[in-house]
Amino acid sequence: MPDAAASFPSRLPHVGTTIFTVMSRLAAECGAVNLSQGFPDFSPDPALLALVEKHLRGGANQYAPMAGVAPLREAIAEKTAAQCGTRYDPEHEVTVTAGGTQAIFTAIACAVRPGDEVLIFEPAYDCYAPAVELAGGTVVRTQLGFPDYRPDWAEVGRLLSPRTRLVIVNSPHNPTGAVWTAGDLDQLAALLRGTSTLVVSDEVYEHIVFDGRRHQSCARHPELAARSFVVGSFGKTFHATGWKIGHVLAPRQLTAEFRKVHQFVVFSVNTPIQLALAEFLREPAHYLGLAAFYQRRRDRFRAGLSATRLRPLACAGTYFQLASYAAVSDEPDVALAERLTRELGVASIPVSVFHAAPRQDRVLRFCFAKEEATLDRACERLARL
Ligand code: GLN
Repeated sequence: MPDAAASFPSRLPHVGTTIFTVMSRLAAECGAVNLSQGFPDFSPDPALLALVEKHLRGGANQYAPMAGVAPLREAIAEKTAAQCGTRYDPEHEVTVTAGGTQAIFTAIACAVRPGDEVLIFEPAYDCYAPAVELAGGTVVRTQLGFPDYRPDWAEVGRLLSPRTRLVIVNSPHNPTGAVWTAGDLDQLAALLRGTSTLVVSDEVYEHIVFDGRRHQSCARHPELAARSFVVGSFGKTFHATGWKIGHVLAPRQLTAEFRKVHQFVVFSVNTPIQLALAEFLREPAHYLGLAAFYQRRRDRFRAGLSATRLRPLACAGTYFQLASYAAVSDEPDVALAERLTRELGVASIPVSVFHAAPRQDRVLRFCFAKEEATLDRACERLARL
């Protein structure tokens, strides 16, 4: 009898366990300060927790509607209209998802067919390529420049073809902290004009942009909005990554296709937290202060790094800071990230894992969504490098 499990051909032969799980596990094992996986070490606003409790105890514990509870979809549409000037119809164009990753997977699954090409910008967040491959698509990669992580629009133009079904964009960008300008969106729109290529725009760090910049959402750009799935995440905005709630904005026809898949992936998302978020979102102050909140942490962490031999790269958005160790070591970043966790007690993310082809820019990603004392402790330890 052949052993079915042993002879089973993997659908994702090149994929291992995500780096976030690997590094958080190692950090826990070593008792290290965990600046690897991106999550805050502080709690959501007590007022939001009280709202969740109210709805939990108030009996809102059965299935939510498949697309999300109406008050939350309405609140998302209101917020988007206020921020971007674009009005999405909550009934047909807004869907609540179980986090950003599920939103991205579902958008890819409903858009990509075998033989389609999907363009991604590397370094690329690690969930994009496997989702494309599972859908039978082919990933086409363009490299962001180093160390500024700017797109090469001329190359993007050369890589697009009639087979390009989808372009996946991400600003503010994980892992680099780079932020696109309005000009970047214009370049993308011009390249896609007259094509049937769609866009998945991963904007989960939309409220975390620094130094007076403005987040350039595809939802603000009418030409792009008409062909985009725009992905957002409450986990990032409200310090609650464990709640796994996000959303997708897309024109009616795209949302209809999205929901065909969504209903059989998660069906719906937990009810009490949706109802709580719907109430909490009505007050814009609950998310508009986020940039200043994280800019203080970014600045504190960068100041702390200046006492180490690591060199911070530019950070225009997200809660990730890249640091170059080129002056310190020739080690590959994966080896160094592991050694720093074990020997110095600070966990980070090696950036090379976000490239398909071997590449060593000698940079590590540190998450600064942490209490100041946590950041200070990490910098003290990193100073020993
Ligand atoms: N988005 C988080 C990060 O970049 C990780 C989320 C996850 O572990 N799936 O660190």
